[in-house]
Amino acid sequence: MRPDTTLVHPPACTTDAAHAMSPPIYQTATFAQDSPLTFGAFDYSRSGNPTRQVLEEQLALLEGGVRGFAFASGMAAVAAIVRLLRPGEEVLVSADLYGGTWRLLTTLCPGLTVRAVPTWDLDAVHLRDSTRLLLVETPTNPLQRVSDLRALATRAHDHGALLAVDNSLMTPLLQRPLDLGADLVLHSATKFLCGHADVMAGAVVTRNAPLAERLYAIQNGEGTALSPFDSWLLLRGTKTLALRLERQQANARIVAQLLRAHDAVSEVYWPGFDDHPHAERHAKQARGPGAVVSFTTGDVERSCAIVERLRLFATTVSFGGVTSTASLPCRMSHASIPAAERSLPEDLVRLAVGIEDPQDLVDDLRAALLS
Ligand code: PLP
Repeated sequence: MRPDTTLVHPPACTTDAAHAMSPPIYQTATFAQDSPLTFGAFDYSRSGNPTRQVLEEQLALLEGGVRGFAFASGMAAVAAIVRLLRPGEEVLVSADLYGGTWRLLTTLCPGLTVRAVPTWDLDAVHLRDSTRLLLVETPTNPLQRVSDLRALATRAHDHGALLAVDNSLMTPLLQRPLDLGADLVLHSATKFLCGHADVMAGAVVTRNAPLAERLYAIQNGEGTALSPFDSWLLLRGTKTLALRLERQQANARIVAQLLRAHDAVSEVYWPGFDDHPHAERHAKQARGPGAVVSFTTGDVERSCAIVERLRLFATTVSFGGVTSTASLPCRMSHASIPAAERSLPEDLVRLAVGIEDPQDLVDDLRAALLS
């Protein structure tokens, strides 16, 4: 089955004798056993739940892995991966990393060393003996720099390290990091996978069976798995991912072109432009540019005023939903990275483009940029 079909034909729910078209929500913490010594497939929802299992199997199929794990948030997914490391080991991360991931690594992981490098420049990627994990976002969010995943996988493996890729911005429909050599792929499923800004969720997929066993032990041991109802909501959201993404990318192209042609805009960051510095690299490893477009205006106050004047683009963090949104990353999603360590222009505006009629988005942007 191709991914677009897997989205609307998730794996069967093994416990559903009625063959419901929508997987049942097993809203239960416990499952009764036939006897104290006879165990069924499920006993306790922290350890396993049929609704979550459908979702996890679907995630594994979409990313081409052997096993998927659904977590209560993207941060819980990141935390599970970080749990694979031991004190004294080092994580190398992409500069431009999501602020929450940086905060987790630098404030909640005592004993780990964290180093941010421009992973889009292979010459800057030096692993030490202690480096055990490369954690990469590509394209980065919000500056859209593209790292060569095949080359990074080779670099990591040559040093006995793992490569984990945060694929939230691309989704498995546009980029499949495991096919490019990554060991782990993770998502803030709160974003495009959900698509409706109504679920917090995270995902990790791997095709490495021993790693999968360790991830299961972490998910079960820490109790960070996604709830049955949120698993069901996410399964409902993923059904329309292909259609949403197609429309969002088409709208993003229109928005990016408008911005680029506008006098009030200094620079537009979007990997769909032929002259994007990493366009060729991106085209080799991804099937589309995505629907997040960033731009600068040359002045923080002007950028702030533009975001305030937008009517359809709601001012909010996050991205990937059907509704268009706008944010100032340095004041919002990336504010937890100290200014000195942030490599983002202060006047950067990030737009996450939704599925509205593109003409309404154009009208909204033109009005906000002109005033
Ligand atoms: N990764 C990226 C790229 C993100 O943008 C986010 C959140 O914005 C996260 C991870 C964390 O995900 P969540 O907010 O679902 O915990």
